[in-house]
Amino acid sequence: MRKLLAIFAHPDDESFGPGGSLAKYAANGVAVHYLCGTRGEAGTVDARQLNGYTSVAELRTAELMRAAEALGLASVRFLGYHDSGMACPEGADPAILCAAPLDEVAQRIIGFLDQLHPDAVITHDRFGGYGHPDHIKLHQAVLRAYELRYGARWSLGADGLIRLACDMPAPRLYFTVIPRGWLKVAVRLLPLLGQDPRRFGRNHDIDLVRIASWEMPITTWVDVRRYIEHKQRASACHASQQPLGRQSWLARLIFRRAQTTECFSRAWPPFQPRERRETGLLGD
Ligand SMILES: [Zn+2]
Repeated sequence: MRKLLAIFAHPDDESFGPGGSLAKYAANGVAVHYLCGTRGEAGTVDARQLNGYTSVAELRTAELMRAAEALGLASVRFLGYHDSGMACPEGADPAILCAAPLDEVAQRIIGFLDQLHPDAVITHDRFGGYGHPDHIKLHQAVLRAYELRYGARWSLGADGLIRLACDMPAPRLYFTVIPRGWLKVAVRLLPLLGQDPRRFGRNHDIDLVRIASWEMPITTWVDVRRYIEHKQRASACHASQQPLGRQSWLARLIFRRAQTTECFSRAWPPFQPRERRETGLLGD
């Protein structure tokens, strides 16, 4: 049985991110595992949503377990760090993911790689999607894990792609990519709806203008049209973290439209100069 390991920082990154791809592979007989860096402790949660749960971590873990079921995941595991929120202050507690020693995080990841032997690994891109410090840390820790476990060396090309060279057989490695085209559409349309694209999201701490300027080439497009329902059902499980908050139907429409294809950047095996774009994560 083929295995896919998604490594992201928070409960909800799996659903709001590549949820369609995870559901697609799970539905096609691949064992899809989720290794979650934290339990989303820093998430903003309404007091009434906490109803019945003793902590934000407990609530968000429960939301994640329901989302995992909606996606058909084989298992959910935790790296055991705390969520930093959007800021990672100097001298922060090393129990917080963004402040944890890199090699320690990498060693914990290696433990799961050796236990699961995945065929492919998916994680955050080098910008951490929208710049979240826990996402960036996990991206770096996965690269470090490949260095320590598979003898990988890596470089960032002028084309913006990270390419690995591994001494040993290693799982394929992908980073999730937010397609810039859709972001640019959103940046132009949101002001027309009276919304500031520099202060996007329920916490108004996401700068879409800056994110749209980050270059992140796409090597792999996965058609998830048939799995949008799964992704939406899984996303709805994270009721405490709806990213669009009460934003307009048009903003929702743009983001839903952007969800028919999920995009990735492949780092291992390294993407070749004249290689055609892939349509799958397992060489399919
Ligand atoms: Zn996250």
